[in-house]
Amino acid sequence: MKTKIAVAQGDGIGPEIMDAVLRIFKANDVQLEYEFVEMGKSYFDAGHSTGMTAAAKEAIEKYGILFKGPMETPKGKGVKSINVTARKVWNTYANQRDFRTLNGVDTVFSKAGIPINLTIIRENIEDTYGGIEHLLTYDVAVGRRIITRPGSEQVIRYAFEMVRRKGYKKLACGHKANIMKLTDGLFLEVFQQVAKEYPDIEASDIIVDDLCMKLVSKPQMFEAIVLTNLQGDIVSDLCAGLVGGLGFAPSANIGDNISIFEAVHGTAPDIAGRGIANPTALLLSGIGMLRFLGYSANAAAIENALLYTLEQGAHTGDFGDKTATPSLGTDAFADAIIANL
Ligand code: NAD
Repeated sequence: MKTKIAVAQGDGIGPEIMDAVLRIFKANDVQLEYEFVEMGKSYFDAGHSTGMTAAAKEAIEKYGILFKGPMETPKGKGVKSINVTARKVWNTYANQRDFRTLNGVDTVFSKAGIPINLTIIRENIEDTYGGIEHLLTYDVAVGRRIITRPGSEQVIRYAFEMVRRKGYKKLACGHKANIMKLTDGLFLEVFQQVAKEYPDIEASDIIVDDLCMKLVSKPQMFEAIVLTNLQGDIVSDLCAGLVGGLGFAPSANIGDNISIFEAVHGTAPDIAGRGIANPTALLLSGIGMLRFLGYSANAAAIENALLYTLEQGAHTGDFGDKTATPSLGTDAFADAIIANL
């Protein structure tokens, strides 16, 4: 029997890359059934305060899995982020982002023969993302940061369990507890307490600015890092840069009842509608989703086809050696992966 999941195509490049990924799934006979749900900027504009219709919410809650394209949020003013709202509504408290060197995707580290394989776990609900901000005067804006013991504990425990599951040996906690003694201090305290339950894992902590410096100079020092929401957001984009850019950064928002799989990148408005977006990050997110659902054979076959395609030098316009091989559009890149299945 096919497992049913909810799919939201998203805004900007979302429909283009989602179409490419679902074609690859179909070519590998992935036994999933999709319910396409109404969610995104246009539904917000049409008056749905959470950016989704009631039917979409119902379907996502029924199936427990949302495979999602990026969704637009205006900067500075206007509506709340649909992405942040979705994570909160369904308490997807752990944001897992896996970064690794891919053959065919050149970076300073791959050229130096230094392979990267690291996972960022970012707390996904709390911190400054509560959007509790107000103007004190015309010239002074104030924002609140919320860190709780239960919220910290659930994501930190998830991180230790993930480290065990992956067979890693180390977990670092990134923080700024030297300055934000109460908020980051609480997160670090919980990390140190939970670490005692995992004596098989080498637990360490590192101040986030030092972490950034070490990540760009010696990324191979790290296997997994857990951070609060805002710091995790920034550090994970830095890690995307280490492995070739946002086009290669997948993400999973994990909760106890509902999980959301999506690329780290946004709607790429500068290239939307041109058929040139790189579908790899969404494909890697989809591969993670297949593994999560127990479709390991499909996940392995599609991953191997992707890796082989990249090794062959096939690339979209955002990466690769353009002098050796011309860039492919989104559809042609997906076709190249399908040909290697
Ligand atoms: P972005 O990630 O959309 O784009 C940043 C740069 O990376 C652009 O130059 C873009 O062309 C490029 N890029 C991104 N994905 C690419 C891909 N798959 N292939 C090739 N190039 C790619 O970031 P932004 O411009 O800051 O944000 C645009 C919109 O996306 C905003 O409204 C933002 O709120 C939203 N956003 C959504 C999510 C999400 O849905 N999870 C995440 C981040 C940003």
